[in-house]
Amino acid sequence: MSSDAPLTATPYVGRFAPSPSGPLHFGSLVAALGSYLEARFHGGRWLLRIEDVDTPRTVPGAADAIIATLARFGFEWDGDIVWQSRRIEAYSAALERLKGSGHAFPCACTRREMADSALTRDGSRRYPGTCRNGLPPGRSARAWRVRAEGVIHFKDAIQGAQREDMAIDVGDYVVLRADGLFAYQLAVVVDDAEAGVTHVVRGADLLDSTARQLHLQALLGLPRLAYAHLPVATNAAGEKLSKQTLARAIDDHPPAAALLAALDFLGQKPPAELDHAALPDIWRWALARWDLAAVPRRRHAVAPEFT
Ligand code: GLU
Repeated sequence: MSSDAPLTATPYVGRFAPSPSGPLHFGSLVAALGSYLEARFHGGRWLLRIEDVDTPRTVPGAADAIIATLARFGFEWDGDIVWQSRRIEAYSAALERLKGSGHAFPCACTRREMADSALTRDGSRRYPGTCRNGLPPGRSARAWRVRAEGVIHFKDAIQGAQREDMAIDVGDYVVLRADGLFAYQLAVVVDDAEAGVTHVVRGADLLDSTARQLHLQALLGLPRLAYAHLPVATNAAGEKLSKQTLARAIDDHPPAAALLAALDFLGQKPPAELDHAALPDIWRWALARWDLAAVPRRRHAVAPEFT
């Protein structure tokens, strides 16, 4: 059969974007693995970005430890690692554009002043609109928010059709925080666009952020990305593995065993022959057999016992 692929088909560019708030745990290994295998399956590039924009949550040494762990597991990223902490100018420029187009507005409200407002899908407080049409007299800006308007539809390659009504499900959202730091939502959109990322594969804990990211892409005139959200690994109590839930560092395990467990978690069913295989053999199998369609279509699943 002759190939009917257009000569100008957009190349696939994926990425892994860990926050250096602690060592890599099983949940982040799953996100790294899913994004990596999907990028390689498409003959694409796979980029690594350290999301250290949220400096209060950044743990000294954690980024280097994550990079070393990824290398030890045999992940091969393309190009230079991007550090969000070095990209403040790009985020400022994006905010200026949002201000210039009237999509961003200054907000004086404190968390306490919003304590009674309704909850959004991700459990934060929906902005009650107090400063939407101008700061109240005598108040000054603490943060900058983007006006949440319209309905965002997208088809997640794993979780299926999604719809978010920006005003109801999200509310006017922060892009520059009261502590002077740029919000994750803005940083991620600016960085993905600048790096030429085309596809985002990550944990389903970020599914509810996707509408904001698509919204910002549209407001900033940036390309719209494609998304696939993997099930998030939880402990037996159903809590997401994280530093807060005392998830073990993935470095506590031999990489081959952890990689097999992550493949299994992603529904890939590695055969028993691989149980005692060396790391390169497991990678060879995974790269040859990866199938996104086999990933369980769930938002979370319990991580295997040993993690
Ligand atoms: N830095 C985020 C995290 O570690 C991931 C962001 C993303 O993949 O968009 O949860």
